Amino acid sequence: MTTVGILGGGQLARMMALAGAPLGLRFRVLDNVADACAGQFAPMIVGDYTDQAALAQFAAQVDVATFDFENVPAESAQWLSERVPVFPNPRALAVAQDRLAEKTLFRTLGIPVPGFADIGSRAQLEAAVAELGTPCILKTRRLGYDGKGQFRIKSAADIDAAWEALGAQAMTVGLILEGFVHFQRELSVVAVRGRGGEFRAWPLTENWHVDGVLSASLAPARVEDALQATALAHARKLAEALDYVGVFALELFCRDGELLANELAPRVHNSGHWTIEGSETSQFQNHLRAVLGLPLGDTRMVGTACMLNWIGTMPDANAVLGEPGGHWHDYGKAPRDGRKVGHATLRADSAEELAMALQRVGVALDREGQVAPVVAALR
Ligand code: AMP
Repeated sequence: MTTVGILGGGQLARMMALAGAPLGLRFRVLDNVADACAGQFAPMIVGDYTDQAALAQFAAQVDVATFDFENVPAESAQWLSERVPVFPNPRALAVAQDRLAEKTLFRTLGIPVPGFADIGSRAQLEAAVAELGTPCILKTRRLGYDGKGQFRIKSAADIDAAWEALGAQAMTVGLILEGFVHFQRELSVVAVRGRGGEFRAWPLTENWHVDGVLSASLAPARVEDALQATALAHARKLAEALDYVGVFALELFCRDGELLANELAPRVHNSGHWTIEGSETSQFQNHLRAVLGLPLGDTRMVGTACMLNWIGTMPDANAVLGEPGGHWHDYGKAPRDGRKVGHATLRADSAEELAMALQRVGVALDREGQVAPVVAALR
């Protein structure tokens, strides 16, 4: 009997546990809150990620450890890796936790990135804004997610407000300034690398964000084969450089046919949720196969798919469940503003059928604004 340990007990751990059940796996989840939603399916240890007693208890109960959450302190991941196999490895985790280290690695590997600068003081911010031009975005290097810890600088007049909002964090989590990319599309590659170096990727996914939070994903993305090949080559190069094992997502901006790397998520990813019903093997199942050293499953798509995120509260399930290709995922979380509480995936054999299903669901749930960009993309 194999037990997989997961640091972090959110919806990603929950969907991993569900995907692992057919493989006969057991799970143990460590989270600092007692009602973490993965706890509804897997036994939990409640403790802080820096609490050595909790980590020791966790290590004693698992055969292999992985993450549902990238902000587990790198020292905790390192401590664990001296006691049990940890995938992805702590170095990959550490790079992905720091926007500056991540962008520096992308650049070193020849993966194009938006202009960026390390910001340690207000004077550096002023110089970097002058160099990168406006608009630009000041971001925390560490601990930011879903658009949090970011300030958009529209003109030099906003420097005061940006420094007021984030300046104090220059000495704690660090700051990075990035040039603003006027992209036409946001794309992500969700890919997996096995223990033996085997690499597979799902077709590129096209993503729409609202206020920095993912709203909808469409697969396959409407891109030419050459762009798809470039994106996959970037992902592969990155995975090999980090000796990465498991699933990860590389988020990209597409501007005038050029790809610019935004960030690496060292875990299963929201833009890969459609793979549960839309591909031969889901990202969750393949992540488990990778960390356990099992053969990876095929990543080919079955038709076309769109995922819609439910933020804050769950809508009524009936409209989606009434669709022939409608799939419902309720994470069992209490409603809260801005919180990801569930998603739906609509699958169809053709783009036209998918557009019609989305429109029906959008009208029934009063979510026409959410489905409109996807429907427009499909037509
Ligand atoms: P992040 O947390 O860096 O993934 O940012 C969240 C979202 O903010 C992205 O998905 C984009 O929609 C937007 N964003 C972040 N960085 C940039 C940038 N340099 N240029 C344009 N939009 C950005």
